[in-house]
Amino acid sequence: MLKRLVNNAVIKLTITPVDPLLIKSSQATVSGVNMSFVRTRHRGGLGEPFIPGSSLKGVLRSYGEKICRTLRTQPVPVCLPYVEVGREKDVEKGQASCGLRFEKYKKDRKLNTLPTNEIYRHSCPACRLFGSHDYIGRLATSDAYLSTGSSAVFEVRDGVAIDRLTGGAAGSAKYDLEVLVRGTFSTTLEIQNFERWQLGMVALILRDMEQELIRIGSGGSRGLGRIKAAITEFQLGYYGRPVRSFSGVTALATQDECQLYGFHPERPTDIPLPSPDQQGLRHVYDIKETWKDLLTPAVDDLVGYIETVRWPASIVSYTGGRNA
Ligand SMILES: [Zn+2]
Repeated sequence: MLKRLVNNAVIKLTITPVDPLLIKSSQATVSGVNMSFVRTRHRGGLGEPFIPGSSLKGVLRSYGEKICRTLRTQPVPVCLPYVEVGREKDVEKGQASCGLRFEKYKKDRKLNTLPTNEIYRHSCPACRLFGSHDYIGRLATSDAYLSTGSSAVFEVRDGVAIDRLTGGAAGSAKYDLEVLVRGTFSTTLEIQNFERWQLGMVALILRDMEQELIRIGSGGSRGLGRIKAAITEFQLGYYGRPVRSFSGVTALATQDECQLYGFHPERPTDIPLPSPDQQGLRHVYDIKETWKDLLTPAVDDLVGYIETVRWPASIVSYTGGRNA
């Protein structure tokens, strides 16, 4: 992350289940079912159901990875976050985790840390946006709580019955699932110091979330987890000075910074932004109504970036690992 704030994007959205939703709690249940929905801690009773920001980030990440894998098949442009270098199966070759590669590199050379710009420069597109072991990433997700005026409705389902319907798990012991069938949750995504292609990726994910194409939580193969998202706010912020057109960090950073971090060049665009609203040092552009059109150049940047990104070659030469 650059040591100064250049830009950010703040997106508020609501999430409503289309199919029953199960986000498993790791806590012992007090509601008497075997698998219950995650809730806030509450002394002596049931807390509020919520969707943890980390679950949400995981869903966004894996969908973002799918987009990258669709845009380029060879070499695969993103890593598998849990696969250690040297332990890849054949089908995973060249896709070892960025975070684990950096860990091994530090251990082999007895280093405590690596410069953030080097981690960023050699990380795959997914890790650049969503982070890896030691690097928090550019995108932050907050926990999603019930929207004002919305209440949650749960149903208890027979887990075995659901399995029987799809032909799986015949003969397994009976267990109950507590699924959420109604309720609208609100959350905020923030992307700090974004490269324009990163907003392109976020835009594609959000569009598909609006179209009910994304599932969250457990039981996707059993017909659970489809959600519908609605964008309630979408703001771009630029620090220090207003901008004339939709710019990412590449257009706003110095040439030295661009090289140090390996920012991807932005294709010129003349799509103007609406007039800004100044909030302290931040010039805020409200793009709630226009984000799909406005972010088109960012999607073009994403396509160009994925086609040309030097990952995994760049991380292999940096860490001097295998698969060179
Ligand atoms: Zn990675």
